[in-house]
Amino acid sequence: MPELPEVEALREFLDEHLAGKEIARALPVAISVLKTYDPPLSALDGTTVTAVDRHGKFLDIAAGGLHLLIHLARAGWLQWRDVLPSGPPRPGKGPLALRVALTGGDGFDLTEAGTTKRLAVHLVHDPADVPGVARLGPDPLAGDFDRDAFATLLAGERRQVKGALRDQSLIAGIGNAYSDEILHAARMSPFKPVQNLTEDETTALYEAMRATLRSAVERSHHVAAGRLKAEKKSGLRVHGRTGEACPVCGDTIREVSYRDSSLQYCPTCQTGGKPLADRRLSRLLK
Ligand SMILES: [Zn+2]
Repeated sequence: MPELPEVEALREFLDEHLAGKEIARALPVAISVLKTYDPPLSALDGTTVTAVDRHGKFLDIAAGGLHLLIHLARAGWLQWRDVLPSGPPRPGKGPLALRVALTGGDGFDLTEAGTTKRLAVHLVHDPADVPGVARLGPDPLAGDFDRDAFATLLAGERRQVKGALRDQSLIAGIGNAYSDEILHAARMSPFKPVQNLTEDETTALYEAMRATLRSAVERSHHVAAGRLKAEKKSGLRVHGRTGEACPVCGDTIREVSYRDSSLQYCPTCQTGGKPLADRRLSRLLK
């Protein structure tokens, strides 16, 4: 799933390619992808794109006083095309979910792999009309989001730190991969309760969060849309690397599995050398 750094790179790419261009047509190909019906998608026809913004993991294409909000979710992706195929796309064939064609003949496709369809597109007058955008917490890379703002956000928080970091309404844009990376950089257990963080640990977590996300954004800078996923994977130090050696200490990276996801961590760097209980594994062993 694309998280803040990849969505930011897509935003930058789209802003360069779309700003000032005229939309010829926006066509929903998979019916389930479009979550709004008023205004209709045809309201974008003939409008000029003024800017491309990002809210957490949402892309926001502004055109003609409207906002096309895109949430790629787990399996969605964006493919830029210098030359779009002529003729209308056929529904029900392949992963194509929505196509935006510019009057110059170029444009982009939104695609979604797999059978679970969670890619979501909204066309609204105000980004805050989308509930997932309205409830977003602050952006962790915002200029005014300093260490004290982070500490204020965490005050009263009773969850484990991994869950808190992934909560979009607490802080926007961090998902399963970058929360693993941030906690590894902060040398902190994903299960540590937020209310047990010392002042120094809060500072370390804040700094790890900013440094991890900043360096991922830097790496993704000017990487073509088609190569972003590989770029993300190559930059991860623990996430998705179960069984490999920790690049910091050489210990074996371990995981905790859930029904449809897993987290990775280094015991030496993060949990005093002790493996965390893997509930799924312990259930299987009973
Ligand atoms: Zn380590």
